[in-house]
Amino acid sequence: MERKTIEITGIVQGIGYRPFVYNLALAHSIRGWVLNNEKGVLIDAEGEDEALEGFIKGLTESAPPLARIETLKATSFEPRGYSFFEIRQSKGASAGFTLISPDVATCDACLAELFSPGDFRQRYPFINCTLCGPRFTIIKDIPYDRHKTTMAPFPMCPVCRKEYGNPVDRRFHAQPNACPACGPSLRLADRKGETLPGDALDRTLALLLQGSIGAVKGIGGFHLVCNAENHGAVSTLRSRKFREDKPFAVMCRDLEEVRANVHACEEEERLLLSPERPIVLLNRKKDSSIAPGVAPFQKTLGIMLPYSPLHHLLLAGPLKSLVMTSGNVSDEPIAYKNEEACHRLSEIADFFLLHDRDIHMRCDDSVVRVIQGRPYVLRRARGYVPFPVKLSYDLERILACGGELKNTFALSRGPYVFVSHHIGDLENMETLHSFEQGIEHFKNLFSIQPKAVAYDLHPEYLSTKYALSLPGIPKVGVQHHHAHVVSAMAENGLDKEVIGVALDGTGFGSDGTIWGGEFLRADLRDFKRVAHLRQVPMPGGSMAIKEPWRMALAYLFEAFGEEAADLELDWVRRRDAQKCGVLKRMIEKRVNSPLTSSMGRLFDAVSSLLSVRDAVNYEGQAAIELEMMADPEEREEYPFEIQETPGPMIVDPIEMVEAIAQDLIHNHSPSRISGKFHRSVARLVVETCRKISLDSGLDQVVLSGGVFQNTLLLALVVDGLKEAGFEVYTHHLVPTNDGGISLGQAVIAHMRCFQCV
Ligand code: ZN
Ligand code: ZN
Ligand code: FE
Repeated sequence: MERKTIEITGIVQGIGYRPFVYNLALAHSIRGWVLNNEKGVLIDAEGEDEALEGFIKGLTESAPPLARIETLKATSFEPRGYSFFEIRQSKGASAGFTLISPDVATCDACLAELFSPGDFRQRYPFINCTLCGPRFTIIKDIPYDRHKTTMAPFPMCPVCRKEYGNPVDRRFHAQPNACPACGPSLRLADRKGETLPGDALDRTLALLLQGSIGAVKGIGGFHLVCNAENHGAVSTLRSRKFREDKPFAVMCRDLEEVRANVHACEEEERLLLSPERPIVLLNRKKDSSIAPGVAPFQKTLGIMLPYSPLHHLLLAGPLKSLVMTSGNVSDEPIAYKNEEACHRLSEIADFFLLHDRDIHMRCDDSVVRVIQGRPYVLRRARGYVPFPVKLSYDLERILACGGELKNTFALSRGPYVFVSHHIGDLENMETLHSFEQGIEHFKNLFSIQPKAVAYDLHPEYLSTKYALSLPGIPKVGVQHHHAHVVSAMAENGLDKEVIGVALDGTGFGSDGTIWGGEFLRADLRDFKRVAHLRQVPMPGGSMAIKEPWRMALAYLFEAFGEEAADLELDWVRRRDAQKCGVLKRMIEKRVNSPLTSSMGRLFDAVSSLLSVRDAVNYEGQAAIELEMMADPEEREEYPFEIQETPGPMIVDPIEMVEAIAQDLIHNHSPSRISGKFHRSVARLVVETCRKISLDSGLDQVVLSGGVFQNTLLLALVVDGLKEAGFEVYTHHLVPTNDGGISLGQAVIAHMRCFQCV
């Protein structure tokens, strides 16, 4: 006979872990008890040597699918002679903290009940159990108990209560447990918020089939929904939402429907079906029945599968696929409260499908892409948050405020960095408010009172202004591209100096100019800028981001001077001579023409030169469409130069621009030119890294920055670097775009403030 106490940490609460332990104990004839405490799960187990060993092995090996075991510590004690095994009352949260589960897609067992005739939960849109259902979005406070969630106003009926109290039931301590008798319910309303009579679900289906646009309350907020196969409905939604070209996400009924519309490999199908249920970017099939207006000028479609019971019900009838786009107007945060949604979306939606289970934290859908067989998260939110990134070293408690576009913040504690859900572009008061609320919520959930705050060097970012306004706390400014690189280092477990390649649109440089084509020698504390893309002026400042033709002009002017105007280019023919004259004078006189070394702007310039896009209506559009048209089979490359200077090396793409102009004059196809351009940029990255390596002896390269959302470029760079003998690291857990920088900021701030050299 032996006795051991076993402490387990990780995501082990609210996911059916205790009933699992209970059953496992019975199977191994173990006696004793299990309970939830502030750190996770504590077990006292007594039994025969071998049985105890098998039991402890089973605790990790056959754990429920949603469990994430971080640590398991077993200590031997004198046997006590327990006579049975029981689940004991939880010990409340004190100074410790627990990990909180993200929201989880409806499980198979619940799904079977949902469509089982005669089941008392048949067609009940709020069915859930310990293996599935809302978590993060309904939790108001810790510990995770029903009365601290938005399920508090729904007292359980005797049937639900019995399930909730039964240790071997699938719904044992399922905090959002509910049924039609006691739980939340649907309500269909018109544009004025007046309730419409009849069965809310049936009527919704009829309206969608007719081509109406609905605002449907989901798990993390409202979606604007219409039939994805109805061209008219899709274009109406576009015009009402003031969204010209930015793609909409689509929810397909099932895997079969996915396969009918897009190409998906095994890993992509696994992601689509995973409990996280992200939007996966997939290549569209030619004969797809989804309206082209869903994703104009794209080869890809953003596809997801139903993740809440309501979604399954909406897609169980004749509708095969639905547009499911964020319920917001242009760049504001997604609507998540009933009244607010009815007010804000009244000009867009024809009807509102509401329910009375409140959403406490709004949380958008996550977006993932598979590159070279591995998932690559582009927007990290529902399904992933608030699961932390775990480091191999401890951090002091730090708040990192992130960037401006695609903002996330992060809070660290020990080895964990809690990177927030996608907050959005911090460009308006609503988003700023959501950012501030989110920070307070995370501080509370994970009991983190920050001892330092990290911020981006850009003085105009609202996140920076917020950080600087916090009283009585040390503040650490972190250079944007250093944060990018360290973020990728952190998630890959790197802590020694590396070559960091950060390619993006805009980031504030240590010298006050705009950076974005950066090669750094970086460690977790400091960096040295060892090479960068040649600087060019951005005529009109931020206007040049919205109008890529301005960048094309700047590059042509650098390459050809006055003769640019005489080139036999479509681009020249499209131009207004007077406007160009004004811009040229601005450049010459350095008026409102800040210098930038941005790689994003070079992509913009080439996109405009190739007549792909002169002006954009969403961030990154010109570069995305340039990638879409590239011929991946192209084998030729353009020339470029790497100039050694006393300071950083200058990576000069001007010869590339000259050659592209020549190819255009000789009527080479834009798809060939784009393919050639992508290969050339990849070559330029590899050659620059080679030079840096010669100097430094470093052979690990870390890739980060929004430009690496370009999958063609990323694959070419990774392959090229590996061929050249480098070890290459990219993002997988957090986005390569600015949504990832809060993680890097937290690590750098810790090293600067709390780590002695
Ligand atoms: Zn379930
Ligand atoms: Zn009930
Ligand atoms: Fe960036």
